Amino acid sequence: RAKNRSGVTACFYRKEMDEAARERKSIRADLQYAIARGELKLHYQVQTSALTDEVTGYEALLRWTHRTRGLIPPDIFIPIAEESGAIVEIGDWVLRTACKTAVQWGRDKIAVNVSGVQIARADFAESVHSILYETGLPPNRLELEITETALIADKVRALHTIRQIHALGVSIAIDDFGTGYSSMQTLRTFPFSKIKLDRSFTHGLDREPAAKAILHAVLALGKSLGITVLAEGVETLAQLDILRHEGCDEVQGYLLGRPEPRESALAANISVAQLSRLAGAA
Ligand code: C2E
Ligand code: MG
Ligand code: MG
Ligand code: MG
Repeated sequence: RAKNRSGVTACFYRKEMDEAARERKSIRADLQYAIARGELKLHYQVQTSALTDEVTGYEALLRWTHRTRGLIPPDIFIPIAEESGAIVEIGDWVLRTACKTAVQWGRDKIAVNVSGVQIARADFAESVHSILYETGLPPNRLELEITETALIADKVRALHTIRQIHALGVSIAIDDFGTGYSSMQTLRTFPFSKIKLDRSFTHGLDREPAAKAILHAVLALGKSLGITVLAEGVETLAQLDILRHEGCDEVQGYLLGRPEPRESALAANISVAQLSRLAGAA
């Protein structure tokens, strides 16, 4: 009987897995044409100084509107694009589009996420260089966001590439800090100018002493290494208050602004001071 039941379960899983595999396969096939079909778009999310609420930059976030499936989140399609290699062309498109937009905007910095697959390519620094040249964006207005996981596969080569990019005058941020492996070793070796503290820590700030203690330690680390610390995923004024009080440099999150198409991202830039007043009035 037990055997029978497990047989049924196995069969059920099998069917689910087949379906998931089919779905991935079809997404993978369609990704090849996403650029040509004009289905990719960038949204921009504002980053501000925690204390003065001045805009320090915008992060470009990729959006894919599939013609039949609708909006597919990057957490789903980026890993598939990495697997298929499509991320190289897509990543190039993202970088070029973000740099062009930044040139039109004026003086703010633009932060662009890059995948480990891109960094692992021998010609990556060269393509960053030519995109900067082609779009006319000054290198010091570009920041590349890289997760630790992206640096793991081939550390020696990744370090080489990152150093080349750094030498161009482009700055490098470590993304989702605290969720990867061997953070300290990575901080020690790579020329990061910004730590982006993962949003899971930000979310714990107003209820979890441990999250606050970790923030405290990361801020101390940032200060002594001369690295800017940005808290991701700020959603409430309570979180923002703690971040300011602890001396966090920069903030990003729904409270300050959602990722939006470029026109509205610029317009929606409500100041934090304004938000605080609104909260006080409520
Ligand atoms: P990420 O780089 O850590 O980006 C932050 C994610 O958190 C974004 O999700 C953003 O929309 C979301 N977020 C921002 N503020 C808040 C908040 O206050 N609360 C909550 N709950 N979430 C917030 P998104 O846009 O879905 O992107 C997910 C991930 O996909 C990114 O994480 C990044 O790793 C990857 N990604 C996005 N665009 C690109 C790209 O152009 N290239 C590559 N390689 N990866 C990308
Ligand atoms: Mg990012
Ligand atoms: Mg992040
Ligand atoms: Mg992330």
